[in-house]
Amino acid sequence: MSSSSNDKKLTDNPYQMALKQLEETAKLIGLDPGIHKILSKPKRVLTVSLPVKMDNGDIEVFTGFRSQHNNARGPYKGGIRYHPQVSIEEVMALSMWMTWKSAIVDIPLGGGKGGIICDPKVMSKLERERLTRRYAHAISDIIGPYTDIPAPDVYTGSEEMAWIMDTYSTLKGNYVQPEVITGKPISIGGSLGRTEATGRGVGFTVREAAKKLNIQMNDATVVVQGFGNAGQFAAQLVQDQGAKMIAVSDTQGAILNKKGFQINELIRYKNENNTVKGFPGATEISNEELLTTECTVLIPAALENQITKNNASKINTKIVAEAANGPTTPEADDILYQNKILVIPDVLANSGGVTVSYFEWLQNLRREYWTENYVNERLDNILTKAFGEVYDMHLQYNTNMRTASIALAVNRVAEAIKIRGIWP
Ligand code: GLU
Repeated sequence: MSSSSNDKKLTDNPYQMALKQLEETAKLIGLDPGIHKILSKPKRVLTVSLPVKMDNGDIEVFTGFRSQHNNARGPYKGGIRYHPQVSIEEVMALSMWMTWKSAIVDIPLGGGKGGIICDPKVMSKLERERLTRRYAHAISDIIGPYTDIPAPDVYTGSEEMAWIMDTYSTLKGNYVQPEVITGKPISIGGSLGRTEATGRGVGFTVREAAKKLNIQMNDATVVVQGFGNAGQFAAQLVQDQGAKMIAVSDTQGAILNKKGFQINELIRYKNENNTVKGFPGATEISNEELLTTECTVLIPAALENQITKNNASKINTKIVAEAANGPTTPEADDILYQNKILVIPDVLANSGGVTVSYFEWLQNLRREYWTENYVNERLDNILTKAFGEVYDMHLQYNTNMRTASIALAVNRVAEAIKIRGIWP
């Protein structure tokens, strides 16, 4: 295979990316080759075919997946995404990243991920409900409060989680089982602070990175790619530390205003117009210009494969905080590291989401509810500790923050696998 097709394979396929990251980590820490083989594959991947009656009476058949990567340290845990680009390999990669994420923040959970190939933006609410319930039914035998606990991800939220909770509870004994899923509405057992948790976590890790690099957040500028749940709250939290957001994008386009945006005004505009495009006083720019705009903190908060070998050398920032999963390819990681840009990798930067999901699960199991302050304080403690451990490890091993994060995780997961042993 020529090197250019090799590169293409690496940058296009998130599972190949995840394997490459694991390989680099294994080399660095001298991982047992047997454990490396175990961790290279999800334990189980289920593909389901989902017939749904559409509003016009036609039957549409969707394809869905649930990948369960590893449960050595606790039940599989991870979101479900609805997107036209979902693929089995993407879901497998995302499930591996979830295993690392749970281990980095040291919560007793493993890694899983689900997805349905669909475009929820063109579906009615009733169609989404029928699709969601059909999927919940199809995966109901492999999920459960002590086996696999799903959550929201790209283009899913509390509404879908409520339907899944209801479908599962009705099917499995017909009593309320909120602990089967996280990211639920508060009224049926959701946790305060869960909606904001991913963005809040990004904010905490950026704060810690700025301290290490002696950056004053009052002087900092921020660029955010993607203005969904994670992007909006991350922007808000970083603005609360004194920084100014100067550029932002969504699927419709990107906008720049060197004077800085008021995030709450922008959120209001986006809610009314379904896009940030056209926001008064801003200049329209391309996605490529957005990513290479000079700033202190760049927050990719959209999909995979955004910072690649083609644009990495033009990235002009001090910190990349990955609110999205998998936005940077391995080749781009090397370039950013050479250019002394500190990357707070997805598995650390966006782990606030799964951490508060863990809090939600604990609250559900005990049928007790915590205050938002308590949730946020515990989240801060966990992420500050995890950031410190990863940062120290990257200095100790003289490697980038991603490899250090995965090394921390792999050591923890490998230990659990070794202590439990292989049986049967
Ligand atoms: N989908 C989110 C993630 O990628 C959250 C997962 C969860 O809360 O289980 O981390």
